[in-house]
Amino acid sequence: MAAEQLSTRCCVVGGGPCGLMLGFLLARAGVDTVVLEKHGDFLRDFRGDTIHPSTLNMMAELGLLDDFLRLPHAKAPAIGGFFKGQEFAFADFRYLPIRCKFIAIMPQWDFLNFLAERGRNYPSFHLRMRTEATDLIQDGGRVTGVRATTPDGSLEVRAELTVGCDGRHSTVRERAGLTVDDLGAPMDVLWFRFSKKPGDPDETMGRFDAGRILVMIDRSDYWQCAFVIRKGAIEEIQRAGLPALRQTIARLAPLFADRVDELKDWDQIKLLTVAVNRLRRWHQPGLLCIGDAAHAMSPIGGVGVNLAVQDAVAAANLLWRPLNAGTVREEDLDRVQRRREFPTRVTQRLQVVVQNNVIDRLLRDGEGLPAPWPLRLTSLVPPLRGIPAWLIGVGVRPEHVHTPDVRAPAR
Ligand SMILES: Cc1cc2nc3c(=O)[nH]c(=O)nc-3n(C[C@H](O)[C@H](O)[C@H](O)COP(=O)(O)OP(=O)(O)OC[C@H]3O[C@@H](n4cnc5c(N)ncnc54)[C@H](O)[C@@H]3O)c2cc1C
Repeated sequence: MAAEQLSTRCCVVGGGPCGLMLGFLLARAGVDTVVLEKHGDFLRDFRGDTIHPSTLNMMAELGLLDDFLRLPHAKAPAIGGFFKGQEFAFADFRYLPIRCKFIAIMPQWDFLNFLAERGRNYPSFHLRMRTEATDLIQDGGRVTGVRATTPDGSLEVRAELTVGCDGRHSTVRERAGLTVDDLGAPMDVLWFRFSKKPGDPDETMGRFDAGRILVMIDRSDYWQCAFVIRKGAIEEIQRAGLPALRQTIARLAPLFADRVDELKDWDQIKLLTVAVNRLRRWHQPGLLCIGDAAHAMSPIGGVGVNLAVQDAVAAANLLWRPLNAGTVREEDLDRVQRRREFPTRVTQRLQVVVQNNVIDRLLRDGEGLPAPWPLRLTSLVPPLRGIPAWLIGVGVRPEHVHTPDVRAPAR
């Protein structure tokens, strides 16, 4: 018997962007919700730090946008790049008919702390930090909650619905035995940072050259960099040594030649093993997976956070009523999958096309590869920059908040 037992309507496993948004929205609609997060805080470096225009739009729908934008952030109104030394303009959010014509770049922990704080305004919101779900509780073929470990001992949470928002290494989906389809990815990513100096451009951009790709994200007071490598090439790069890596970076992005020495240790470099996959079935009786737990996204377009948040909004819209009534059926969970599988499939398809036709070819043997035609076209015809801006910043089937706020005065 567990040291502590809890009973709730909805148990959300994972306090990332998906889980906290879902927990907040359900509690705001009066649904008793427990969110379990295995870490003691949200302070993790090099996570998805991009808040896209459609997520900003949701913040506006929730009446939180002004407060949210008071948090320190950098704005990326456009995304461009250098392909073999030639500059190209690609996506420009200023062409879009939307409220926030930029991507807000903000540490993910600020975003998560913001959601957690707003959630705590509602008595139905219960966030349990340092609580790691380890197994599912099943009863007569239905998931009825989770087992977890806490610093004070074991915990059992019984729930009408358990939602796995525990990311791409999801324990929930693994314990449920849900089938994962792997779409493959030819690359991994090394993340690191460089200082920003006076006179540096204020622009997020990519640098593409034969065998090498570097994405430079402007974080106001520093550069967050993603160096794309062939899948599994990390050992080869480590064998070649840090000086060789520094040299490669300096050649690819001469702006960094005077500061590559800031990379002194491999500990400053975080490897993201890229995976693109999705669950065939996102649910079982009493259980649903969403966000990265249902579909790990490629880093192309930096859309992982946005999709995770959109999943949470769709799930809250479709489930708050049956949850409050205590009548969640599998058809309700299937409606969430049907609503969100289409945008997931389309986005992953686009990512795989870019992976196979640009990234893979460039990393293998990019010498003769011309600049991709969409890049040439968007550079020549500025209004066309609105198309990639829409795909990246808003995406397929953007969600809107339809859940009520129990604290709003009755009209
Ligand atoms: C290095 C890196 C850089 C990235 N950059 C970008 C970017 O620039 N833009 C972008 O959009 N996306 C980016 N992504 C992807 C993005 O972070 C994810 O798509 C997004 O965070 C998914 O949100 P989520 O809530 O579904 O999952 P996650 O963010 O993975 O959150 C899962 C949460 O569950 C918790 N958890 C896991 N297991 C358990 C358990 N058993 N019990 C309790 N808690 C658990 C974890 O601690 C975590 O807090 C990046 C990812 C990485 C790794």
